[in-house]
Amino acid sequence: MSENKSGEKQNIITIDGPSGVGKSSVSRKIAAATGFTYLDTGAMYRGVGWHFLHHKVSLDDVAMMAAKLAELELELLPAPDESSDVGVLVNGENVSAAIRTPEMAMVASRVSAIPVVREILTSIQRNYGEKGKIVAEGRDTGTIVFPRAAYKFFLDAEPEERARRRVLQLQATGVVADFNQILSMTLERDKNDSERAIAPLSKALDAHCIDTTGITIQQVVEKILQIIADTGR
Ligand code: C5P
Repeated sequence: MSENKSGEKQNIITIDGPSGVGKSSVSRKIAAATGFTYLDTGAMYRGVGWHFLHHKVSLDDVAMMAAKLAELELELLPAPDESSDVGVLVNGENVSAAIRTPEMAMVASRVSAIPVVREILTSIQRNYGEKGKIVAEGRDTGTIVFPRAAYKFFLDAEPEERARRRVLQLQATGVVADFNQILSMTLERDKNDSERAIAPLSKALDAHCIDTTGITIQQVVEKILQIIADTGR
């Protein structure tokens, strides 16, 4: 269980929401402002997706997936600066750039619906949480992984705006991206993530919802920091 022994709230900030809503940029800035450690749970699903692809594991073969997960060592590397993604090592191999493509996002989305994958990653994420003081970002961090987190946020924005932001983000890293293609991938990922049977994307009842349409990352960060300050640490 993610709650500590006394049942008190954990010193954790969760930031969930659909693809391309700005969660990573916001989470990195919140981590920098609070001194908490940033935990990018999506990077973990991407790492597992890369591992399965690399070993040509069929996503229908539960036994093989479990065997490959047993030999997986997943290590997150801190982001070099506030505007960069965290890195990922899979069994020592640096896959940081390879996991950030739109195709790997789709693979991660498929892999993330598989119970054995969720079970293992949720347990790894909770171990990070035991050490406390983290900003956890993903789809289910406020609902399933850390239901006792002290501060929960759910970011949302219109799909078109999210796709536009994703295109700009990808272009900034040198990946050529087509708006219509990214929009349809965004919608497909939203559908997969919201409709899956376990840990679907959803807002925790006690999460603060922030619509980021038409406002800047910095404005979102300020709103979150204000809510945290008002709630009191
Ligand atoms: O956040 P990011 O786009 O890197 O996540 C990639 C995929 O990993 C998501 O589309 C989602 O399917 C999955 N994911 C998840 N639960 C999380 C984080 C990510 O299912 N907590």
